[in-house]
Amino acid sequence: MKDLQRKIKGRIQAAQRVLVTSHVRPDGDAIGSSLALALALLDAGKDVQVVLSDGLPAGFKHLPGAELVQSKADGEFDLIISVDCSDLKRIGDALDGYHAPDIIIDHHVTTDPFGTLNLVEPEAVATASVLTRHMAEWGLTITAPMAANLLTGLVTDTLGFRTANTTSEALRQAADLLDLGVDMSALYYRSLVRRTFVEAKYWGAGLSSLERADGIVWATLTLVDRKASGYNGKDDADLINFVSSIEDADIAIIFVEQNRKKTKISWRALKPQIDVSQIARQFEGGGHKAASGAELIGSLDEVQERVLEATRKGLNQPQS
Ligand code: 5GP
Ligand code: MN
Repeated sequence: MKDLQRKIKGRIQAAQRVLVTSHVRPDGDAIGSSLALALALLDAGKDVQVVLSDGLPAGFKHLPGAELVQSKADGEFDLIISVDCSDLKRIGDALDGYHAPDIIIDHHVTTDPFGTLNLVEPEAVATASVLTRHMAEWGLTITAPMAANLLTGLVTDTLGFRTANTTSEALRQAADLLDLGVDMSALYYRSLVRRTFVEAKYWGAGLSSLERADGIVWATLTLVDRKASGYNGKDDADLINFVSSIEDADIAIIFVEQNRKKTKISWRALKPQIDVSQIARQFEGGGHKAASGAELIGSLDEVQERVLEATRKGLNQPQS
């Protein structure tokens, strides 16, 4: 066993009170990975809290272990593990008053090694894939409730096994998780297909703002759109996945106004040779070659101008 895996196993075995955390605006991989790991640690006899700064979005409440999620930590911990999070800032306030993570488990190419032990595998399709690979080495056994969470991470980060980074290993892992007794069709429907009426209205507002220029398509979701549709989240309700399906564009972008001074950006590369993580890095964001994000300070109009300009420049640069 590699040294890093041995050290992770040692830290896990020696710990009793474990805090598991992930990033703000948690997605299926952040939640699925957190819950799978937490359930395995509970089975190993540990006390576990899953602390997510933004809590658990309604669409994931069906997952086994969902009741473990809280938005503030409570008590003391001898081990803090961060999953699916590429920098300390993206944990939000979940660790306020606590030490930085002892272990980070992630798959982002832009990950800053902010833990004591850093397990980062950028070629993995999801953090759930990294966990599926290594949990047995740490003495943790994957059971059906964990499999449902891990498969949620695999399915959501690959958009149903259709992103360009989908590997045969990811499909084999999915097959092994299915064998543990997961209802894949139900899980797929719940995490990728279904939309609430309110989300559909919110999408409508975003789609009515759609623009296109210089190979870039973009949509904007304002605070007014959020209020008018009644959408409770601070994210794009996955509208980016629809905008990314528009043909003949190179890059898709969504701007989500967070408040009068802050805007969340999502970039998607629509061609395999384009690397949007390089553009996101310029704004202290990060992610993957094909999917990246950042949060920018400034009014929506100002941010939009800067981001579109940098994206245009990024497109004109020779891609490595
Ligand atoms: P999304 O655009 O769906 O929020 O995120 C796309 C990818 O970029 C995900 O892998 C996500 O973790 C990463 N990402 C999104 N926003 C940020 C950010 O503000 N900072 C960093 N470092 N990564 C981000
Ligand atoms: Mn994530």
